[in-house]
Amino acid sequence: MSADFFHEGELVGVLTTQPLDRLLDYKAPEGGCWLGAFVEVPLGPRKVLGVVWGPGQGNFDPSKIRAVNRVLEAAPMREEMRNFLGRVADYTLTPMPAMLRLATRAPGLGDAPSMRKVYRLGDAAPERMTDARARVLEVLRDYGGLSFTLGELAEMAGVGASVVKGLVTQGAVREEDTPRDTPYPQLDPDLAGKALAEDQAASAEVLCEGVRSGRYGTTLLQGVTGSGKTEVYLEAVAECLRQGRQALVLLPEIALTNEFITRVEVRFGMKPAEWHSGVTLTERRRCWRMVGQGAAQLVVGARSALYLPFRDLGLIVVDEEHDTSYKQEDGVVYNARDMAVLRASLNEAQVVLASATPSLESWANVEAGKYRKLELTSRFGAAVMPKMSAIDMRVEDVPSGRWISPSLQAAITERTEKGEQSLIFLNRRGYAPVTLCRACGHQIGCDHCDARMVEHRFLKRLVCHQCGETKPMPSACPSCKVEGKLAPVGPGVERMAEEVAAVFPEARVTVLSSDLFGSARALKEAIANIADGGTDIIIGTQLVAKGHNFPLLTLVGVIDADLGLQGSDLRAAERTFQLMRQVAGRAGRAETPGEALLQTFQPEHPVIRAILSGDEEGFWTAEAAARKAAGVPPYGRMAGIVLSSPNVQEVFDLGAEMARRIEPLRRIGAEVYGPAPAPIARIRGRHRVRLLVKADKTAPIQAALAEWVGQFKLPANLRLTIDIDPQSFY
Ligand code: ADP
Ligand code: ZN
Repeated sequence: MSADFFHEGELVGVLTTQPLDRLLDYKAPEGGCWLGAFVEVPLGPRKVLGVVWGPGQGNFDPSKIRAVNRVLEAAPMREEMRNFLGRVADYTLTPMPAMLRLATRAPGLGDAPSMRKVYRLGDAAPERMTDARARVLEVLRDYGGLSFTLGELAEMAGVGASVVKGLVTQGAVREEDTPRDTPYPQLDPDLAGKALAEDQAASAEVLCEGVRSGRYGTTLLQGVTGSGKTEVYLEAVAECLRQGRQALVLLPEIALTNEFITRVEVRFGMKPAEWHSGVTLTERRRCWRMVGQGAAQLVVGARSALYLPFRDLGLIVVDEEHDTSYKQEDGVVYNARDMAVLRASLNEAQVVLASATPSLESWANVEAGKYRKLELTSRFGAAVMPKMSAIDMRVEDVPSGRWISPSLQAAITERTEKGEQSLIFLNRRGYAPVTLCRACGHQIGCDHCDARMVEHRFLKRLVCHQCGETKPMPSACPSCKVEGKLAPVGPGVERMAEEVAAVFPEARVTVLSSDLFGSARALKEAIANIADGGTDIIIGTQLVAKGHNFPLLTLVGVIDADLGLQGSDLRAAERTFQLMRQVAGRAGRAETPGEALLQTFQPEHPVIRAILSGDEEGFWTAEAAARKAAGVPPYGRMAGIVLSSPNVQEVFDLGAEMARRIEPLRRIGAEVYGPAPAPIARIRGRHRVRLLVKADKTAPIQAALAEWVGQFKLPANLRLTIDIDPQSFY
């Protein structure tokens, strides 16, 4: 037999999901096992999940080595997947057991596949034919080889279950056990797609060629919202399916999946497999297993779908590749966009990064010749990017407690009179970001975090956006105890709704904010209602910036374009540029041109000027130069180290000690900044201290970090997290 197979009794090294820093030796079970097999092994008194990672080391007492309990009914983990997990672990400095947990996030993997009974036509004729019996047999004959569950068959024939059971006893109907985890229906790549415009067709052809090459390659597909990026990459998916390989489409937001699934169904005749937090546990397990067997051709999912055990992954699409939600920030800290590129390179697969406003990282990779770039230059159909201009708030006369300038008000009135829609954009949830006591100046903060509590009038509570803690709005100031002096300061979307109701009493208004929708369905309905013209003015947070199509929307008014430019985040400019361009892109579709108005106190700020001029290349070139000069990503390497503990002394002590013993980092020429209190110095009662490590692009930062961190013994309650290429600094 091949070296990939271990006979009964041979020693195998097993990686388990338990937090141990090494493989464990076991004896291969009766019947042997393959390299990569998913197994259940005894560990102390427990049974745990593991994967056969290689031959055993043999440095344990042989008489004490136990046997693998059993091999699970799942396709063994493939070599490229084992490599992938190892590479992600090395890159992100994550222990392998945590990687394996990420790759086995489906419930009941250890269970025998559950079976269910199905019914099909038998060989015998029933002893006595009745109307009811005849109807059952007719249904089975009509549907040829198909089998039904008892409930389905009885319902379709309009009979009781006992009629079917009677036919089973007589052999006229056959009862069979089939696995519950069934393959996904076949998608048909050869159904007609939309007739593509010239630049769309050319781009699609380049992507298809890449897929046909059977090699690795990454392409940035750039085009404004509505330019047909989705149509184009669906052609690449079709080509991948024709090649008999599997495809994965990552979306940044579950709220977008329904719309996308419908498009897949229209294009390929059937629905794809889904993988995200909104999918039932049974369905997750089915997806995990079927992906491994090659019985799911296309998976649409969230970032963790990257760790599904694809049998032959040929294409990964990362839609809205710039979206910050691709960065997972707790547990295993990784960026799904970058890991998608890694996975594809190990699988000889293609990657398509689609965006209207690419990240600077991807832009730089195109510049460096690592990625190919395709551009869709015009919107499909007629419309173009909306006309953009600034409203200079320094000269507008806005009463206190109000935020809509007279200029914006006039523009909105003009649209409502024409029966067109306007969007008022403010990226702030809740009613007011600050609640201030007018008697003593106290601002209400969270008891567990270094953050102010945000009033949510809809919920009638104060909410901490860091930890989720809520409390009722007090009537007296918690600090000076004076009654009736607490006042909201600044606007949130709920407060905007109040202002809009006052300024436009006739208008129909919809607020789109993630915490106003209990369910994905309610949100979907609200979105459909907007698309149908059921509203005049939409007030929205970031939620509206993503993907939804509102055909009647012709005006976007940004309440505070300066909001994202505050703070010390190195990506503040990039994010503001992207967000403003995306939000503006909501306006104007088809025949009606759009307009975007940005309220700002600094119209001459370079970022605001770049947004207005739409000079993307100019913006990226300037931003790239600034980052290059500062030696920060993507032109330098960074890592953020956050120490957190309920004990403030311990975090500062360890932080100071770490800053002293930096020999391993000094050797690679890295610099260490800190320790300093993290920008949010306390979350959920844990004090947070941060160190930043900066190194050259080519420096072997991971190995140095591992050696550095390895020198210290952590107090029991202290947590240390390392974030390579940090996206946000909090
Ligand atoms: P993007 O992904 O760039 O935002 P989409 O692919 O969603 O763009 O296209 C925007 C809208 O235009 C969709 O409703 C899409 O079906 C339609 N569309 C794009 N290209 C075509 C085409 N060639 N023929 C017909 N409709 C198209
Ligand atoms: Zn809090």
